[in-house]
Amino acid sequence: MSEILVLVEHVDGEVKKVTLELLTLARSLGTPAAVWAGPGITGDAKARLAEYGAEKIYVAGSEEIVGYVVAPKAELLAQLVAAKSPAAVLVAATAEGKEIAGRLAVKTDSGVITDAVGLGEGFVADQSIFGGGVNVQSKVRKGTPIVAVRPNSTAPEAAAGAGAEEEVSVSLSDGAKAAKIVERVKQEKGARPELTEAAIVVSGGRGVGSAENFSVIEGLADSLGAAVGASRAATDAGWYPHQFQVGQTGKTVSPQLYIAAGISGAIQHRAGMQTAKTIVAINKDPEAPIFELADYGVVGDLHQVVPQLTEEVDKRK
Ligand SMILES: Cc1cc2nc3c(=O)[nH]c(=O)nc-3n(C[C@H](O)[C@H](O)[C@H](O)COP(=O)(O)OP(=O)(O)OC[C@H]3O[C@@H](n4cnc5c(N)ncnc54)[C@H](O)[C@@H]3O)c2cc1C
Repeated sequence: MSEILVLVEHVDGEVKKVTLELLTLARSLGTPAAVWAGPGITGDAKARLAEYGAEKIYVAGSEEIVGYVVAPKAELLAQLVAAKSPAAVLVAATAEGKEIAGRLAVKTDSGVITDAVGLGEGFVADQSIFGGGVNVQSKVRKGTPIVAVRPNSTAPEAAAGAGAEEEVSVSLSDGAKAAKIVERVKQEKGARPELTEAAIVVSGGRGVGSAENFSVIEGLADSLGAAVGASRAATDAGWYPHQFQVGQTGKTVSPQLYIAAGISGAIQHRAGMQTAKTIVAINKDPEAPIFELADYGVVGDLHQVVPQLTEEVDKRK
């Protein structure tokens, strides 16, 4: 079977969960080959990639690859596409992943699909488009299919691959070196999972009422091991930081479980969460549009419902 290149997302030498999902997906369609961009690959990282099915691990360990924003990663993948003729290239549908996918498509004269939430036989992708209002199936008709897949679209399953390592050297064009990274500031990482990667997200909206009241949302999130999200009404009010906004102009999440508390379900909010596998809405207005979308709904005051829910979850631990 032909190789499917999977661009590895990694932080501090650790492979991110979305990569394990992409390897699982790639395994169902061909032979997964992981592509590690930049220095710092560890024995643990290689073992993890092999554990989830990577038959090959292409390692481009040059410092240059991570020194210039995203362009070098697109050039690395383009050179691998030319050398290895893979059946497809999969990247995570993160902001960076999607930019790499677009650049790679131009470089290889190929079609690109972004925000896929599934990928099947013949590389037919399921996509949620127009702000999440329409689901379509799409297929690349030109070149090598390049598909950016949303985190949490597939459950990662281990199935050992050979994990054969191959060093790759890349010659970067001057164009790829146009935007140099001069400083990296590490974001303080809390105990909660990253919003776009979390399997469970608990979000609060205007109904939460104040910044202090967000502790109710955080309490439920922590008892479930979830990430916290917020509607734009809540972030614009300064109740929760903007980086946690879910929606059209915020983050797109696709968790197994999304709990929306005090959120009406405006189209712009839905755009960022409606591909969640199970949606639970807590709202005091039985007519709130979020209930049209929810799998389970609780009509009630979130200040009563959410603490009770947290208590029940804690009891079952
Ligand atoms: C261009 C554009 C981009 C946008 N991008 C985004 C985006 O990315 N993300 C986003 O979220 N929005 C976005 N918006 C804003 C969006 O249109 C809505 O205004 C916003 O989502 C509303 O947030 P909300 O549901 O928290 O507030 P509201 O619509 O005011 O809803 C609050 C809900 O809380 C309920 N409630 C109140 N008190 C309680 C209580 N005690 N217990 C239980 N329920 C209670 C109410 O019944 C109501 O349904 C965008 C808008 C535009 C124009």
